[in-house]
Amino acid sequence: MYFSERQSKGTEFKVRIKKVLFRKKSKFQKIEIFETEDWGKVLVLDGLFMVTERDEFFYHESLVHPLLSSLREPSEVLIIGGGDGGTLREVLKHPVKRVIQVEIDKDVVDACKRIFSWARKVYSDKRVSLIFEDAGKFVKNSNGKFDAIILDTSDPVGPAEVCYKKEFYRNLNKLLKNKGGISIQAESPIHHTNIIRNLYKVLKQEFKSVFPYFSPMPTYPGGYWLYFFVFKNKRKKISPLRIPSETKYYNKEIHHSGFAIPEFMKNLLK
Ligand code: SAM
Repeated sequence: MYFSERQSKGTEFKVRIKKVLFRKKSKFQKIEIFETEDWGKVLVLDGLFMVTERDEFFYHESLVHPLLSSLREPSEVLIIGGGDGGTLREVLKHPVKRVIQVEIDKDVVDACKRIFSWARKVYSDKRVSLIFEDAGKFVKNSNGKFDAIILDTSDPVGPAEVCYKKEFYRNLNKLLKNKGGISIQAESPIHHTNIIRNLYKVLKQEFKSVFPYFSPMPTYPGGYWLYFFVFKNKRKKISPLRIPSETKYYNKEIHHSGFAIPEFMKNLLK
């Protein structure tokens, strides 16, 4: 048995599956979790790979640590999306006081708590408040103030579309403390250049500093992923003040190397 993700018109990524562990059409999306031959347990939403046990750490560590490690006291953190709990797991490795996670689909959280070992643990942490709501609405109505905001949403099709609009980032900016920062999963430099170009334009208009960051991500389209770290105020660079323990990818050298921009991306991000 195989599961195949269509990554573009001419490219599919196909993995052999041993068992279907979960399958449900929620109010928002199709949720599937497979046991696979090579990648461990895999979460798929609307036919797209979200998390595999074998390589999720590349993504979750890259999305969280370069930002949180650079903040002196990342006490109040907001996570948008991230239903599988991997982002939350990495955030809790920092001296945070309170984490609010806004996830639209309770079925994703419930399924991941049953199937992914880290999820049960992180969602029972007393510093965490989980809110089941559309992030577009939440950021419009919230008057919270955060040191760090982490956007771990799916692709800009379906429920996550609202998280790619200019108004969304304007509202996010209001929730950010002056010295705070936002970490954004920003899709594939190989397959999603239009999305990246449009997102970058919005970010440059809404924030004083925008830093691209790159990491390998084997099971995502193109195997190579982009993140943006943005700040209200002007910052020259992002230096790590602390390196969390128990990481599998992130360390001081990786922190610095991730900010090196390949030539083709310099041209795209002109
Ligand atoms: N790493 C994945 C990627 O790059 O595509 C994202 C993983 S995470 C599972 C994506 C989460 O965002 C899902 O749990 C989904 O339910 C949630 N999500 C999508 N749209 C949302 C919205 N408008 N508000 C809050 N959560 C949303």
